[in-house]
Amino acid sequence: MAKSSVLGYPRIGGNREWKKALEAFWAGKLEQNEFESQLRDIRVNHWRKQQEQGIDYIPVGDFSYYDQVLDTAAMFGIVPARFGYKGGPVQPSLYYGIARGTKEATASEMTKWFNTNYHYIVPELDGAQPVLTENKPLIAYREAKETLGIEGRPVLIGPLTFLKLSKGYKPSELDGWIDRLLPLYIQVLSELAQEGVEWVQVDEPVLATNISAEDIERVQRIYGAIASAVPSLKILLQTYFESVEFYTDLVALPVAGIGLDFVHGLQGNLAAIREYGFPQDKTLGAGIIDGRGIWRADLHEKLKLVRELEGIVTSDRLIIQSSCSLLHVPVTTAAESKLPEELKNALAFADEKLSELVVLTKAINGGELSVEQELSSSEAAVGALGRSAARNRTEVRTAVAAISGQEPVRSKPFGDRHAAQQSKWQLPIFPTTTIGSFPQTAEVRKARQLWRKGEWSNEQYNAFIREQIDVWIGLQEDIGLDVLVHGEFERTDMVEFFGEKLAGFAFTQFGWVQSYGSRCVKPPIIYGDVAFEEAMTVEETQYAQSKTKQPVKGMLTGPITIMNWSFVREDITREQIAYQLAYALRQEVEALEKAGIGMIQVDEPAVREGLPLKEKDQANYLDWAVKAFRMTTCTVQPETQIHTHMCYCEFHDMIDSIEAMDADVISIETSRSHGELIHSFEENTYGLGIGLGVYDIHSPRVPSVDEMTNMIDRALRVLDPKLFWINPDCGLKTRGLEETVASLRNMVDATKLAREKH
Ligand code: GLN
Ligand code: ZN
Repeated sequence: MAKSSVLGYPRIGGNREWKKALEAFWAGKLEQNEFESQLRDIRVNHWRKQQEQGIDYIPVGDFSYYDQVLDTAAMFGIVPARFGYKGGPVQPSLYYGIARGTKEATASEMTKWFNTNYHYIVPELDGAQPVLTENKPLIAYREAKETLGIEGRPVLIGPLTFLKLSKGYKPSELDGWIDRLLPLYIQVLSELAQEGVEWVQVDEPVLATNISAEDIERVQRIYGAIASAVPSLKILLQTYFESVEFYTDLVALPVAGIGLDFVHGLQGNLAAIREYGFPQDKTLGAGIIDGRGIWRADLHEKLKLVRELEGIVTSDRLIIQSSCSLLHVPVTTAAESKLPEELKNALAFADEKLSELVVLTKAINGGELSVEQELSSSEAAVGALGRSAARNRTEVRTAVAAISGQEPVRSKPFGDRHAAQQSKWQLPIFPTTTIGSFPQTAEVRKARQLWRKGEWSNEQYNAFIREQIDVWIGLQEDIGLDVLVHGEFERTDMVEFFGEKLAGFAFTQFGWVQSYGSRCVKPPIIYGDVAFEEAMTVEETQYAQSKTKQPVKGMLTGPITIMNWSFVREDITREQIAYQLAYALRQEVEALEKAGIGMIQVDEPAVREGLPLKEKDQANYLDWAVKAFRMTTCTVQPETQIHTHMCYCEFHDMIDSIEAMDADVISIETSRSHGELIHSFEENTYGLGIGLGVYDIHSPRVPSVDEMTNMIDRALRVLDPKLFWINPDCGLKTRGLEETVASLRNMVDATKLAREKH
């Protein structure tokens, strides 16, 4: 008989009760005992749901107080020296100190978990003396067994993945670190074996990235050692997010099972299993139901895939699983009451995915008849959405097909545009500007709430927004900035704002997912063809421009950022979705230009977030991402100045693509990369307008003129002064009013000094 399983369940709770408990605890509003008991209730409730649905192997140890990578580090006593850790189990105050910082010590860095929008805490190995402080998976296993009689499947992050995600050691020290951690892993696993645990899921997602032949030898060494130390324990070596490269080596490892992703790694994994088969002595964990997408599966289709696998593996050695942990999807669609019916029927969040897994498993085990209705209704729901008007806007399809067939180029090359823009704007050398948003004070947020609740009329709200614009146009003139912005007071979020105004988007009420720690996001859903309906930003921008003689820069979010921060449909490619967005945003760019706005910024902070895991796929992605940006911006007059902005990530290996975007000016986050970015530009001789952020906006501290002068001087050693702009690192919406004004005044003073010197 085939079995069903999931690789992990969302921890935040349907009402974000986990988030609320964490934040109350941090605020001192919840005693530790009460906090722990609330978290326990959440955890047990999640197990119960899986048990009631009939999942065979329920994960235990996937729950976390913050992040699963931090949990692993804490379990091994890997705590940065600055926290003064004295050994023993890591208590909540220390645990949260590492994650969020304390008065004395800065937090550990956090970074993206593979190609998802989940962020983990990066373990710092330097100086650490790893020991086993407590066997977390064992504690979880016992708890599930005692409370609900569940024979859980403990989840662990495997040694190679854990080490690859850590920092604070040289590549040549990796093997030494494996030697140090391996005995601790063996201890954890031996204790689990003694307890009578049958299966353990050891996550090694790095095996689905570009690893080397040496890494495969490391994997052989690690799992060989585990197999000889704990021969009775069944290890499911779990991969996800992509197909594996060293298939034949992996399936030959001395483990009882291999978990493969047949959703995001479908092509590669299916080709491999067809060609090389699967060992007769192993179990296949087949990731069939998408763990990170929100769409209901066509179960008839999925069943065909499972049948094929059953022909290779036999059903008693088959576990039908989610492709990865369900951490990346919202909890349930059940509470959604405002979505179009055709959309809601075609969604499957975590709880719905549990039921899909169970239905598929029943279909394989008991024949298809017992679940024929479920199979057919999934097919019907998927089909209905496919045929819906929202997904079939012929005018959009035709227009996008036509323009994506053309090379999107501006009418003049950068040199000519630069000359035309200079003579039009007469800006001083080193023009100053900001990235778009100004402080969203309590007053601004309150006003938006009142308006959303209907307590304020549109007129009242618009008048309020205009007042804010007035204030900030005045402030920017007074500070002496050269290129002004309206301040984005009407926007909560740079993606949501546009999603609400474009056709093809839907917004859930409760569709939250964890981004990092207690921070959750509610991504929009791009479910239909995207279309421009009416101007989205013209009114505020034009109003701001009417209040000043200085140029006001229009402000849009770019196609790739909107796409990467949304859940997207899967019946057409991401490339197609990007072009639909580009075509819609192009109409906004044109509307702004027509309204007399001569500088337009199209923000693309999230370009890198869509970068495929495998190197071989990356160039193609960057090509069409750049093309989408150019489609958005290429139709304006030569003297219209296109700006873009990027932040959040490393750029050093994508400067060619950034240049290919052909924006007249880019503003780019610099301070957090400690000048490394400047070196990259040195090697690349970037040839368009560029502002390297001269101060970090993530802190309330007001940077001094000196500090900014330093940044400017450093940048000018490598960049052409005629192309150099001066601006902060990113938007200022999270900052307070006074510190913002003071910082910008210092920035303008630093600019004046630079103008004298150069
Ligand atoms: N224009 C946006 C702002 O200033 C850009 C935000 C971002 O890069 N994340 O807020
Ligand atoms: Zn930014």
